[in-house]
Amino acid sequence: MRQLGTLVGQSVARVEDATLLTGNGRYLDDLPQRKDTRHIAFLRADQAHAKIISIDTKDARALPGVVAVLTGDDVAALTRSMTVGVKADVEAWPMARDRVRYVGEPVAMVVAIDRYVAEDAVDLIRVEYETMPAVVDPMEALAPGAEVLHPSLGGNLISERSFRYGDPDVAFAEAAHRVSISVTYPRNSCTPMECYGVVAEYLPSEDIFDITANFQGPFSIHTVIARSLGVPGNRLRLRTPPDSGGSFGVKQGVFPYVILAGVAAKVAGYPVKWIEDRLEHLSASVSATNRVTTLSAAVDGTGRIQALEWDQVEDCGAHLRAPEPATLYRMHGNMTGAYAIRNVSIRNRVVLTNKTPTGLNRGFGGPQVYFALERLVHKIALELGIDPLELIRRNLVPTGDFPYRTATGALMDSGDYSKALYTAAHAGKLDKLLALRDAARAEGRLYGVGYCVAVEPSVSNMGYITTVLTPDQRAKAGPKNGAQAVGTITVDPMGTVTVKTASVPQGQGHRTVLAQVVGDILGLPMGDIRAIVDVDTSRDPWSIAAGNYSSRFAAAVAGAVSLAAQQLRGKLAKMAAQQLGCGPEAITFAGGKVFDRENPAAAIPFGRLAGTSHWAPGTLPEGIGQAISETVFWSPPELTAPNEKDEVNSSLCHGFIFDFCGVEIDRLTGQVRIDRYVSMHDCGRILHPGMVDGQIRGAFLQAVGAALYEEFVYAEDGSFESGTLADYLIPTVMETPDIQILHFETPSPFTPLGAKGVAEGNCMSTPVCIANAVADALSCENITLPITPSKVLAMIGGEERPPSKPIAKPVKAKAKPGERALTGEGEADVSSPREAVWHMLLEAETLAAIIPGAHGVQKLSPDHFTATVTLGVGPVKDKYEADVRLSDIDHLNSVTLTGAVTGRLGSGGGTGVIRLSDLPGGGTRLHYSYVATVGGKVASSRQEILDALAEHGSDASVIAGGQTLVPMLNMRLAKPKVLIDAARLPDLARIEEEKGELRIGCAVRQAQLEQLPNLVSKQPLLARAIPFIGHVQTRARGTVCGSIAHADPSAELPLCLIALQGKVHLRTRRKARTVRAEDFFLGMMSTAREPDELIEAVSYPTAAPGTGFAFQEIGRRHGDFAIVAVAAVASDDGVSLTVGGVDDVARRFDLGAGRDDGLDDALNDIAWSLNARDDLHASAAYRREITRRLGRHVIHQAKAEAARCQS
Ligand SMILES: Cc1cc2nc3c(=O)[nH]c(=O)nc-3n(C[C@H](O)[C@H](O)[C@H](O)COP(=O)(O)OP(=O)(O)OC[C@H]3O[C@@H](n4cnc5c(N)ncnc54)[C@H](O)[C@@H]3O)c2cc1C
Repeated sequence: MRQLGTLVGQSVARVEDATLLTGNGRYLDDLPQRKDTRHIAFLRADQAHAKIISIDTKDARALPGVVAVLTGDDVAALTRSMTVGVKADVEAWPMARDRVRYVGEPVAMVVAIDRYVAEDAVDLIRVEYETMPAVVDPMEALAPGAEVLHPSLGGNLISERSFRYGDPDVAFAEAAHRVSISVTYPRNSCTPMECYGVVAEYLPSEDIFDITANFQGPFSIHTVIARSLGVPGNRLRLRTPPDSGGSFGVKQGVFPYVILAGVAAKVAGYPVKWIEDRLEHLSASVSATNRVTTLSAAVDGTGRIQALEWDQVEDCGAHLRAPEPATLYRMHGNMTGAYAIRNVSIRNRVVLTNKTPTGLNRGFGGPQVYFALERLVHKIALELGIDPLELIRRNLVPTGDFPYRTATGALMDSGDYSKALYTAAHAGKLDKLLALRDAARAEGRLYGVGYCVAVEPSVSNMGYITTVLTPDQRAKAGPKNGAQAVGTITVDPMGTVTVKTASVPQGQGHRTVLAQVVGDILGLPMGDIRAIVDVDTSRDPWSIAAGNYSSRFAAAVAGAVSLAAQQLRGKLAKMAAQQLGCGPEAITFAGGKVFDRENPAAAIPFGRLAGTSHWAPGTLPEGIGQAISETVFWSPPELTAPNEKDEVNSSLCHGFIFDFCGVEIDRLTGQVRIDRYVSMHDCGRILHPGMVDGQIRGAFLQAVGAALYEEFVYAEDGSFESGTLADYLIPTVMETPDIQILHFETPSPFTPLGAKGVAEGNCMSTPVCIANAVADALSCENITLPITPSKVLAMIGGEERPPSKPIAKPVKAKAKPGERALTGEGEADVSSPREAVWHMLLEAETLAAIIPGAHGVQKLSPDHFTATVTLGVGPVKDKYEADVRLSDIDHLNSVTLTGAVTGRLGSGGGTGVIRLSDLPGGGTRLHYSYVATVGGKVASSRQEILDALAEHGSDASVIAGGQTLVPMLNMRLAKPKVLIDAARLPDLARIEEEKGELRIGCAVRQAQLEQLPNLVSKQPLLARAIPFIGHVQTRARGTVCGSIAHADPSAELPLCLIALQGKVHLRTRRKARTVRAEDFFLGMMSTAREPDELIEAVSYPTAAPGTGFAFQEIGRRHGDFAIVAVAAVASDDGVSLTVGGVDDVARRFDLGAGRDDGLDDALNDIAWSLNARDDLHASAAYRREITRRLGRHVIHQAKAEAARCQS
């Protein structure tokens, strides 16, 4: 191993940054393209599981500008199924053939003159589906009778293997304790800024596919692509662009699109290009696996873990795509974490479900393993009454035992875990943190401390994935092992150096580190060295292991380059020794010169020496050959193939992480605040401290996302609910605390530079560290990620306070894919006797709560009611007049409701059955089921939306700030023919104060109102609410009237308009009218505005003297729409409370004097009277509880302010 030089180990300026920070990066979409390039758009499945009955592409093909339309069968005719990594009778096609198996799966591909035409043609393709039941839960997928995704498999289990190491049976039999935990790890992903992109060309004369994609490797996938396209490897030229906007593993998953683009280019006869958009990326690119784990430990009386028993069920989604099930096996050598546990049993099952196929993702298998293992260790500590850190310490791999062979076969290279733990606890001031926790608890606060130790594997053994095969199957297939890395170093005639590797960075800074490494070896400044890291498989040396994954750069790639540089240096030293008359060992390279250590004055400039091979090869000493270029392929001997006992050294290097943190939980809201986080890493020799810390911070941020915010949620029918970045919540800098990073260096003896990987560690350690801290704070064992406020409050809030009178639980209606129907089912337990419930049931108020979207229910006769119902399918919502009749009345037992609705956009009907039954301890259970079909002109497709809107004169849309409309246009949820710009009219961009009102014109931006001088005194409620609207950028563009027109139930400005009882001024060509706020908002994004009306202005009353105002809201992240927002207004006339974010529209309640006695009852009634939404971000119960808690808070605040004003 070489010594540190002057560059390695320093946080030198990154050579990449000047280009990237000035916007000159060359990403795939920036590269020059042939002018005849055609563009691809995909039609994707809008349901999770369905047979494809027919695909009609006639209209799409006929659209001018369309070059080709291909279906799955067309693609299959020109390709072969992609390789599946297990022995199973199943195919994996890049485009759906007989059936679709996940929402977002490509169903057809259009190639057209530009992307716009391609997208329009996609809209013209008609697919007839036969919907099938979806399988979403991995355990249900394994259950007998579950719907089978791939009939040829005969079930959804695609791979199962069991392993035994040591003697776990004896260990469990003899153990003093058996402690078990069952956990589920959710689906999530590290989302890169740049999405997928492919440019493909087919050269028919040579049968060559020339494809550039922002693929990241491993280049084992090159083989998969070439096989699928039916060409030998040397006829697939795969190139990567110079820059890539992040990947975190995700861009490995671009390869099915590489195949599709190759086929498209071949069929179209043109180069083709496809750039994935964000919506496609979220639903259909790739994600990490979700996993169900049951883990048990055999523990002796002293807390030493003697054995582990793993049962893992891995959900790989709809297709097993290469290299899966690698996520499950990547950690196989490390299933004992940082602990010395000699007995292990493992049962691994891989299932397929109706979700997006999985692939590489930062941490790759580590988060899933450590979440189970470190939660179990926390639980053992609790059960045995041992301090968790002490329990960890007792079980660590002992100091001095390195290299340490784990029970399952990993050879852990170096470390001193106990010392690292002790050092970090000391430097991170753990004792102070514990004292802080005790003090907080003494004050009644919820504070917890969590720990995690983890081994971070890096430089994957290419052979680890073959552990999924039996030893016999492996013997037949031939051994697979190693981690070939390649580095080439070349000097030009002027003596400057070019370094070439197949490392494909995505922003990490590989070029900087390579210049540091080579600069030190050759004694050159970094500016004399240029590293090229993009790949061209037809020109560059590469290996099947090449690429940017498993944190292999510092350890393997930079190591290979250092070996190549040393090889070249050795030759140059011989040449210099000949010229200087000394031995080669005395030659020194420094400061751009080469000299004899004993006589530095007689130095040769590096350029002159290095140019010799070009200018005068005949003068080289014998045996040198050339000293122009050296290429080194390096694969470590430690990475052997799995043996016949299934022991596998799955990775070369093993970093060590010790994290601890303190979290505080807000009793009022259930929000988790990371108060302090300390992360200690042993990643071997540190090549660039700044970049190492950057990697730790980046992984930490993504791990905070996994712990608290991010989840790909699928409904029971497989529909995908996290399809936008407003649903899939990535933490921003506002949600990410600063952390203390500590280092402990034990260089790896197995890598040329002593470095190990570091970039994935926090994705493995942080989620469980935070979970352990939350468990400690709440004294609660069942923690599931992400730990949302809603889940936390459900744990600490206890039983929800029941309503004071029976209220039937509103039914959440859902549209099933392929159906234009809304169905719902629910139950409500009420304390009243059945008779009382029965009588209430037949009242208008109760029916309003039961019928989804109903308001204004009126009783015409005992069995006949009318109502206004807001119904919607997809983005189209509208009001209907409903006629509801009761029939099959079985006194005290059941009743059937039948309703017919008619509205501007069509008609529909529904039936519901309500059944009552007695509860064992008294009270009544109300069971409700509902089916409503929406037919007529209500649209379930975009074309139908257009037709309906056109028919009703709604083919124009006002655009104001565009902050809502533009995203809707992007998502094709709105397709107006005409856009009318309302934000550029100077006379409507005014805020006027008249007659006790602020009249705000429709061109007034939200920021303009926010900055109005004296807004705090003119209308304090607005001044307090506006900063909660999105971000500064949103408010700078979004208009006040646009927000009112959009009528989002969580939006602050509509809530304030209702709270202050303001007005909306509407105008058509012929007439103007003013509508009171309470009459304007009709429901979820539904208002009294007619399609031809412009909201010309809105009026907010100014603050009357002696009035107090208060506003509060809870959102998931800074700037998000409110989960609950409340406003209170207090004056001599009484107190009102307005609640937004809970029901379909913000609702205002008069509370009289709002006296403290009875306030809790009143708030409870308010909470229950709201038709609380249950969605990804919060449960209905959470919304009700926050309404009670925040409601009380703002009422007190407003009253106090009123009292102050009056005194
Ligand atoms: C990242 C982000 C975060 C956000 N967070 C929040 C938040 O926390 N709280 C919040 O309240 N909002 C939030 N918003 C929405 C934002 O406030 C929008 O600006 C607002 O909802 C719409 O205003 P706009 O002027 O942009 O309207 P546009 O997007 O231009 O139009 C919205 C709709 O209103 C109609 N419309 C607009 N003006 C008129 C008019 N004068 N007459 C008739 N119809 C009209 C349009 O036809 C369209 O249907 C967020 C938006 C973004 C992008």
